[in-house]
Amino acid sequence: MSRFCHSLTLFLLGAFTVRAAAPLLDNAASPHAQVRTVGFDEVRWTDGFWAQRFENCRTQMLPSMGRLMEGTNYTHFFRNFEIAAGLVEGRSRGASFNDGDFYKLMEAACAVYAVTHDEFFDRHLDRAIEVIAKAQRADGYIHTPVRIAQRNGDTNAVPFRDRNNFEVYNMGHLLTTACVHHRATGKTNLLAVAIKAADFLEQAFANPSPELARNSVCPSHYMGLIELYRETGDRRYLELAKKFFAMRDLVAKADGGGDDNQDRVPFNEQTEAVGHAVRANYLFAGAADLFAETGNAATWAMLERVWTNVVQEKLYITGGCGALHDGASPDGSKDQKHITRTHQAYGRDYQLPNTTAHNETCANIGNVLWNWRMFLASGEARFMDVAELALYNSVLSGVSLDGTNFFYTNPLRVTDPMPVELRWSRSRVPFVSSFCCPPNLVRTIAEIGGYAYGKSSNSVWVNLYGGSTLATTLAGVPLRLTQETAYPWNGRVRITINECGAASFALKLRIPGWAKGATVRVNLGPVTQTSVSGTYFELSRAWKAGDVVDLDLDMRTELIESNPLVEETLGQVALKRGPVVYCLESVDLPAGTRVMDVGVPEDAKLLARFDQRMFGGVVTLDGTLLAKPAESWGGQLYREVKLIESKPVKVRLIPYFVWGNRGKSEMSVWLQRQ
Ligand SMILES: [Zn+2]
Repeated sequence: MSRFCHSLTLFLLGAFTVRAAAPLLDNAASPHAQVRTVGFDEVRWTDGFWAQRFENCRTQMLPSMGRLMEGTNYTHFFRNFEIAAGLVEGRSRGASFNDGDFYKLMEAACAVYAVTHDEFFDRHLDRAIEVIAKAQRADGYIHTPVRIAQRNGDTNAVPFRDRNNFEVYNMGHLLTTACVHHRATGKTNLLAVAIKAADFLEQAFANPSPELARNSVCPSHYMGLIELYRETGDRRYLELAKKFFAMRDLVAKADGGGDDNQDRVPFNEQTEAVGHAVRANYLFAGAADLFAETGNAATWAMLERVWTNVVQEKLYITGGCGALHDGASPDGSKDQKHITRTHQAYGRDYQLPNTTAHNETCANIGNVLWNWRMFLASGEARFMDVAELALYNSVLSGVSLDGTNFFYTNPLRVTDPMPVELRWSRSRVPFVSSFCCPPNLVRTIAEIGGYAYGKSSNSVWVNLYGGSTLATTLAGVPLRLTQETAYPWNGRVRITINECGAASFALKLRIPGWAKGATVRVNLGPVTQTSVSGTYFELSRAWKAGDVVDLDLDMRTELIESNPLVEETLGQVALKRGPVVYCLESVDLPAGTRVMDVGVPEDAKLLARFDQRMFGGVVTLDGTLLAKPAESWGGQLYREVKLIESKPVKVRLIPYFVWGNRGKSEMSVWLQRQ
């Protein structure tokens, strides 16, 4: 496409596109999507759990991360763009994926701006975009480490020399952010940069080779290109995305590929989740976007196979993904030549260690991105169940309550002493050299409203529960509703229709798979249908303003055990209430009692109690469990069993996502079964 055509596209997008909504993913015209997204700006968190998180994101998390990424105390993020733009002298500092992580911060600012219209964010974004545009090469290439090296006279600095330069990861996030920015502000300044970058990718990958195909590391560009197609209507970007997926198979054909980057097996023939869990989950999220546009049955069948493998064999109880810091795959293969190193990776089936669980926050967010897209494509509640599980547990555990300290990994147990030294901190820290997770968290929390609701031709879908309002249109007619609830602390939800058209439509309420049952009433009267857990409950009628729907989910504290093939949790139990997984911290035990000395009898009575003073208001599980006296093993690996009497011990279990907010402590999700 000529430069003139690009200018025309941008002019049309800028001048005539009247945006009704600003979603993260705009599948309004996707032929194979069952559920359409709503915009962040159509949802307001009013009260309760997500309102608290969004407010913390707006007032603490986003500003403090903005200062960190625009500053130079730790490393360079924005400064790299300034140097690449020729505005400041210097060298590139930081990880090669820092550009992409800065784009994620910008995406969060766009989402907050869409809701609040706070000019501060808009001004900040415009300033950043001006510099980013100057850092871009005339041909559209944009990746600051190479741009800076070129500017400093390094003739060896060329695009795509090293796949660990993360160029397509960076550019993929640029494309997504530009789409969100355009939707949130109506401006085309970042979209112009993204279009140039995508056109560069089209040229650079015109003749795919295995070497070029290997650049798809942490592949955000599948989601980015498909979103750019959706935003511009330019089919070349969908074709380019298809080409990127297809070229993966060149690696497998050339030298067998490897599991770390999911390129041992041809794309549509994959049967299980292997290798680097962020790469895997981003790949599958992109594949679900591809399916929404193409309806390719082989792609959906692959996604179903891999999803089933994850949910039945590789998913942590917290929704975390990626069991291993480092491993080898295929594990135990007879053909040793095919074994490759993997890192931050899915393990073998049922390999779910607790203390050494990697569970990178980005992998857990990738799990949400993937499952949300599977839900949008199918309308099936099971996918939203997994997304919700990850959100309430292994995603939110990545950030401290004050929004300024972060986990890179999300283990399910921390003991003192630890059995092994691990690479990443066991407490949350303000900065890690791999700073991909914090901006991923901030954008996810900023955008959570977009996940909460969905639409189809005559239905409104309520996917996540939380005090909120929705103001959208259904079949072109205004629709407003209010949701009131203390979820996830109890299962009662009230939805009031504030405004709607005369035509009948369906209200679809997700009945989570964990719910033991659910009752639904309309205007305080019972309804005839029975609810089925793990499905959407459909209430179809001619609604009128003032109609009230009450949903009561049976939320109980559950004692959970794992499949005995999970060796690491054999003979142990975990506690879960609704979507929230609990853990025990040693700070809640008598001095000298260790978390692994505590046992849970099967008839344990734990009282679920909302405590406003704890962690800004959470439900804790209080009661009496049994504890053995702490003993030193004195360096022994094995010893003869001694009969040691357990004594009652008062405990308080807290939601897993708030662990580590009270100083150093032991923690375990899984406890001995007494
Ligand atoms: Zn990360």
